[in-house]
Amino acid sequence: MNTEPKIKVGILGATGSVGQKFISLLENHPWFEITEIAASKKSAGKKYNEAVNWVLSNPIPKSICEKIIKECKPNLECKIVFSGLDSSVAGEIEKDFAQNGYTVISNSKNHRMDEDVPLLIPEVNPDHLDIIKNQKYNGGAIITNPNCSAIGLTIALKPLMDNFGIESVNVVTMQAISGGGIDLMKSDSFKDNVIPFISGEEGKMETEPLKILGNFNSDKIKNADFPISAQCNRVNVFDGHTECVQVKLKKKVSSEKIIEAWQNFNALPQRLALPSAPENPIHYFDSENLPQPKLQKDIDKGMAVSIGRLRKDKLFDFKFVVLSHNTIRGAAGGAILCAELLYTKSLIK
Ligand code: NAP
Repeated sequence: MNTEPKIKVGILGATGSVGQKFISLLENHPWFEITEIAASKKSAGKKYNEAVNWVLSNPIPKSICEKIIKECKPNLECKIVFSGLDSSVAGEIEKDFAQNGYTVISNSKNHRMDEDVPLLIPEVNPDHLDIIKNQKYNGGAIITNPNCSAIGLTIALKPLMDNFGIESVNVVTMQAISGGGIDLMKSDSFKDNVIPFISGEEGKMETEPLKILGNFNSDKIKNADFPISAQCNRVNVFDGHTECVQVKLKKKVSSEKIIEAWQNFNALPQRLALPSAPENPIHYFDSENLPQPKLQKDIDKGMAVSIGRLRKDKLFDFKFVVLSHNTIRGAAGGAILCAELLYTKSLIK
């Protein structure tokens, strides 16, 4: 049992969709406790329950309910800041915190493709963490969590790449409303509708998996070199992103071997038994109508990726469906898992 005092953490963007999930998931965390919450000037100075438009089904944790929201300035009493900031402001604020000695774990796009910043999925590329030694942040560091759809896709591709090699990938997403932030949730635009555009999303889906699946040679990450084509759609589902994937592989292989590779996929967070790690990163479903957001999004603490409908494809070799929880595996839960990995590797100063 861990008897050390808990590490103090702050949440930047605490009022947002991702910020709320951080607050909910960190209640009773064995290693971390929230000591600070921060958001925009509009919310700063207010009690959390007065400023937030709480969208989760479980209530606001008691310890946070009346806590005063601060501005996102690097004078917070904590070591780690989890960022769920709007990307229009995240870049500068996160840099400011890192330069002032904080470990920043970000969900925003701004620093993801920086050469010295790991784009981390602890099950896929834990070795990339070592690149933070190249950062010049005065004792602090920035670690980023990938795009919410890229996480599900990349976890599904990792065992395929390692076992059979990948030639090319095509993916079409059906993404949940909660992925569009509180403003989208408050609007009516998604009702009875499909929106065939999510700003910047296709570019992220086509590039981020290649960095994550890239080779780290102790100094640089060399991106994986297969093409990915993505089309991203917003659909009327509250939580859980679904993706229809087609893949061409380097080796000829049977469906059974692919399913076996997914089911045997077990990585460092599982071996270390990190508190937020799913028991199995990938769950494969044989039923022809699964996975579905309503039924599988919360599986294994909302941290597992569900896959189903593997079948032969006439254009590529195989096609299948991937589902993952966008605000847990794809955001707050994934970021907390990154922090747990940093903690076990003694990388939190
Ligand atoms: P959101 O609901 O719109 O929340 C944005 C947060 O940023 C709010 O707390 C807001 O505070 C704060 N903020 C806005 N302007 C600010 C400013 N000038 N200074 C300080 N704080 C400011 O967005 P979200 O969906 O949680 O997404 C947050 C980030 O995570 C985005 O970069 C998004 O792309 C990324 N992401 C989201 C998901 C998802 O599933 N939602 C998944 C992965 C990554 P106020 O309430 O005070 O305005």
